[in-house]
Amino acid sequence: MANSKYEYVKKFEVDDKLPPHNWIVLRIDGCHFHRFAADHMFEKPNDENALNLMNICAVSMLEHFPDVVFAYGVSDEYSFILKETTELYQRRASKILSLSVSYFTSVYVMKWKDFFPHKELREPPSFDGRVICYPRANIVRDYLAWRQVDCHINNQYNTCFWMLVKSGKTEREAQESLKGTLSKDKNELLFQHFSVNYDKLPAMFRKGSCVYVDKVEETVKLDYSGNPVKRLRKKVTVGHFDIISPKFWNEHPYILE
Ligand code: ATP
Ligand code: ATP
Ligand code: MG
Ligand code: MG
Ligand code: MG
Ligand code: MG
Repeated sequence: MANSKYEYVKKFEVDDKLPPHNWIVLRIDGCHFHRFAADHMFEKPNDENALNLMNICAVSMLEHFPDVVFAYGVSDEYSFILKETTELYQRRASKILSLSVSYFTSVYVMKWKDFFPHKELREPPSFDGRVICYPRANIVRDYLAWRQVDCHINNQYNTCFWMLVKSGKTEREAQESLKGTLSKDKNELLFQHFSVNYDKLPAMFRKGSCVYVDKVEETVKLDYSGNPVKRLRKKVTVGHFDIISPKFWNEHPYILE
């Protein structure tokens, strides 16, 4: 557009470029999902379909934004790690935030019926988002460990809470009986009263979900003597690993390099 006398309004915009040489962590979280989960009768404590829907949205994010190198999700939240050198939207915070949150939300709505074919989406879901910059990969790992510890603490509590409620206690009584209990007390409660071995519960509930680009070997064809010709293909993969200990990172050094 040619310059008009109104052009000056543009000067009021602020520069919100994130600093260079930093990993960018974007965390989104469902707005009022306590109520959203109740309105859509999510299974308690963990609705598997709802978690799988979140995971599919995260897979779409990695496919749509190739600079996202890793994502970690639990409950109604997902964290996305953008590589240190990303120039996505010239690193403008508001662009990165608004486009990724709206993209995630749209995929959530579009894919809803695939995971809940018999449940109508009764209200428009929304997600909040924030960006945080971390100057070193080891801090990004600590960030992810922080989220996974949170996943563990919440899941252990919620598993006990809902076991007690489903066995006839009121929500208040369940809350009371868990007050001040330690991690080992909760494991003991699950085992003694409900014959549940916490460690045997699905890894997705205990560990949350990791989404990353894996290098998988696949057979492309057979050669003239019938031997398989293989090549490495990049594939966006979902897994439920321990990301606090070094094992996963040692096996996938290219993710945060
Ligand atoms: P806010 O808007 O502040 O984020 P919130 O109600 O979304 O509030 P959170 O702390 O984000 O609160 O917690 C999300 C809540 O959503 C959980 O407490 C749980 O009740 C519910 N929830 C999310 N995903 C699931 C799921 N897969 N299965 C069962 N419940 C879920
Ligand atoms: P960016 O991602 O940078 O915003 P863009 O393709 O969205 O790129 P805009 O400058 O926002 O570009 O312009 C929006 C374009 O969308 C218009 O140029 C027009 O082609 C198209 N468009 C939007 N709304 C309508 C509409 N109601 N009818 C016809 N075309 C439309
Ligand atoms: Mg919140
Ligand atoms: Mg929430
Ligand atoms: Mg949450
Ligand atoms: Mg546009």
